[in-house]
Amino acid sequence: MSSSTSSKRKRRLTHLTFSDLTHPNFEELSRQFPHSFGVAWQGVRERQRQDGGSFASNVTDEFSRATTRALLHSFFGLSLPHIPSLCPPVPNRYFLVQWIQQTLLSTLPSSESADRRCGIDIGTGATCIYPLLFCAPHNQILESDNDDNDTTTSSSKTQWTWFASEIDPTSVAMAQKNVVANHLESKIKVIQVQPTTAQQQQQQQEQHAGPLLQLLQAATQPVSNQKVDVVLTNPPFHDPSAAQVTQPTRQGDHRPKTNLTCTEASYPGGEVAFVTDMLADAFLLRYNHEAFQSTWYACMLGKKTSFQQLHHLLDYLLGPGSIPSTQFGPGNLTRWFLAWTLQRPTIRSPLAKSTRPSFAVTLSPQDGDYNSDNNSSVPAIVAQRIATYFREQRNYSLAIATTQQSPHGVVVSVREETPTPVEWDDKKLPPAVWQVLQKDRIRFLDTRPAEGHFLLDISVDDNNSTGGGRVQVTAYSHSTWGCKAVETLTNTNKFKAEIGRTSRKWRRIQQPRQQQQQPMDES
Ligand code: SAH
Repeated sequence: MSSSTSSKRKRRLTHLTFSDLTHPNFEELSRQFPHSFGVAWQGVRERQRQDGGSFASNVTDEFSRATTRALLHSFFGLSLPHIPSLCPPVPNRYFLVQWIQQTLLSTLPSSESADRRCGIDIGTGATCIYPLLFCAPHNQILESDNDDNDTTTSSSKTQWTWFASEIDPTSVAMAQKNVVANHLESKIKVIQVQPTTAQQQQQQQEQHAGPLLQLLQAATQPVSNQKVDVVLTNPPFHDPSAAQVTQPTRQGDHRPKTNLTCTEASYPGGEVAFVTDMLADAFLLRYNHEAFQSTWYACMLGKKTSFQQLHHLLDYLLGPGSIPSTQFGPGNLTRWFLAWTLQRPTIRSPLAKSTRPSFAVTLSPQDGDYNSDNNSSVPAIVAQRIATYFREQRNYSLAIATTQQSPHGVVVSVREETPTPVEWDDKKLPPAVWQVLQKDRIRFLDTRPAEGHFLLDISVDDNNSTGGGRVQVTAYSHSTWGCKAVETLTNTNKFKAEIGRTSRKWRRIQQPRQQQQQPMDES
């Protein structure tokens, strides 16, 4: 048996999943790495025997490092000789990697599966953990899953290139060493950037340059001409101007939550300001530097309040329902993840879809041109009413198309023809973002669908039993304004009442036509 077949067989036997990473088998790791992990693990067990307490309360930094090294080696074939200060837990870092590969990169037309991809990691730290995970020589989780059907997924085939920025010179040097230790110098470039002081941030009011622009300016090779698939960050979280900058401690063992130095962990305004400045960079680059494009921006956040604040801001700018988010981790180790794109999604992008409740319409013989003997199908008549209803809307310029889908079904598509310019409310925007949008007069965010702000697909089917139709509204919208318009136009009570009306109003619309057709009968 060839060695490749035997290693394949071995992998198939050890079918690994994400939960093997979150709940590692310490005994197995000890067997694999007796001198490094094994010794550290025995050390914790020994302390626990002597001092009592839970396993978690006896964990040491040395054990955390040994675990990170062992997991990276065992699952991803990575070695990490330098872990000086922040020891990244592998599960939450890999969670972001997986979310980007499997969720974000599969949702936009321009991010369809690709063999080559490019990423930017802002604040890569001494470990360079994210670029290393993306470029890892193997991925036991994906490969063991794939062995079942002997295929390779697009994410495991993808060849990544990464540009990683860092302000701390010691971390830059160590990140570079970690990259070399894995022979990934041709794929990962670590770039040193200068720290941002509060004073510089003030000057940026004139000429904005957030952390992404800093990277592009500091790069010796032209990153700005690349088509980038994702820009990610796990930002520094302290705000040096905040009242107290104490080192938070972990529950249990009371070790500091982070060993990062103050410069590494700080940014004026904390993680919200860091991501906000990156967002302003993204707008500036999107509308002023045609050459640079990133499909996705993603961040990992340490505080729920930061997540909520940023989510709110992104909803306002880009439209509710178009901001992917998720979270991972137990209790106080939870991390929140947010992403945004400034690319135009396809109109039916799953990100934009919102379905409104369906309702039934019953037509009675008095209703306009319906009577059960004539040839007009009920869906056709209901569709006609829907079209009339939307034509009567004065506040929107709507294009309406009716398509017969089957003998018993009709679809009415309603879309806005011309997007309306946006008046930004400066009270809702952080200064950096406001400044960029205002200065460059960005009033049309073309992140919304090409066809306009929204699309409504309204399908009408026969509802045999009652001589009526069933109306199902499906709305696609990519902006706050689009969502509001959909809300107004399909406000269930009004819309339903208008379409299903057996009232005088509907007859009034229809009557003049009938009177014209049958003048003699009236006399
Ligand atoms: N990505 C690593 C480290 C995150 S900590 C991980 O997930 O483990 C945040 C890092 O951002 C620190 O290493 C800090 O030095 C760096 N940093 C802070 N401000 C920065 C800036 N303006 N540009 C690049 N890196 C920065």
